[in-house]
Amino acid sequence: SRPEPILAVDGLAVGYGVVPIVRDVALAVGRGEAVALLGANGAGKSTLLKAISGLLKPSAGRIRLAGKDIQGLAAETLVGRGLSHVAEGRRIFRKESVADNIQLGMYRLGLGRAEMARRRDEAFTLFPALREKAPAAAGTLSGGQQQMLAIAQALVRRPSVLMLDEPSLGLAPILVDEVFRVLGDIRAQGVSVLLVEQVVEQTLGFVDFAYVLANGRIAAAGTPAELGRTDVVRQAYLGRA
Ligand code: ATP
Repeated sequence: SRPEPILAVDGLAVGYGVVPIVRDVALAVGRGEAVALLGANGAGKSTLLKAISGLLKPSAGRIRLAGKDIQGLAAETLVGRGLSHVAEGRRIFRKESVADNIQLGMYRLGLGRAEMARRRDEAFTLFPALREKAPAAAGTLSGGQQQMLAIAQALVRRPSVLMLDEPSLGLAPILVDEVFRVLGDIRAQGVSVLLVEQVVEQTLGFVDFAYVLANGRIAAAGTPAELGRTDVVRQAYLGRA
């Protein structure tokens, strides 16, 4: 059985203008769980994450964070409530230094200098390569390091739920391993994780539970073992014969 949900989505619909992309989606992330959202390109995974984190307004449905309704609240408000979203494509400030980028992650949280310094140091402990590059412009980092920086920016907000949209996108296999190592550390700290990924094998090896989105609806859900046993799921959505 799964832990009590920290994030629960029910009957969610969202789209762009009048075009519905995601319809009638229900999903949950239990406290301390790592949960995957899988699905083909264009299935609506990014759209769904954006609706949860307040970047898009749902046209229907309910989203609860730690038992409180959050649908329709602004992304900025939700960050303060403990929900952080690492968007697809490493949204970092390329001309700013690595250290300043991490600082910007804490912008508007109202933290004192000492607390910000402490959190930045914690991020550097988790990502030693970033400490070495602290004064360098973020744009000079490798792709893998930029992804780590994007994750660090979210982590310094001390989220209770961290959502990541394809953190392994465009990375060499060895760096994908590094991303999953870091995600393991983050989970070990008690952060609940909702992960959108296309690297199916590694993702199923990491998460406790997974949802498969197809054409904007949940087409399958289960533990990795349950999903792996279902031939239809394996063939249609996971790309395995
Ligand atoms: P990918 O892995 O390619 O990002 P995805 O599952 O995350 O796929 P979305 O990015 O959520 O899918 O896109 C779902 C659908 O919404 C696609 O058909 C896409 O063309 C459409 N879409 C995405 N962004 C917009 C937008 N800003 N305006 C209109 N349609 C959009």
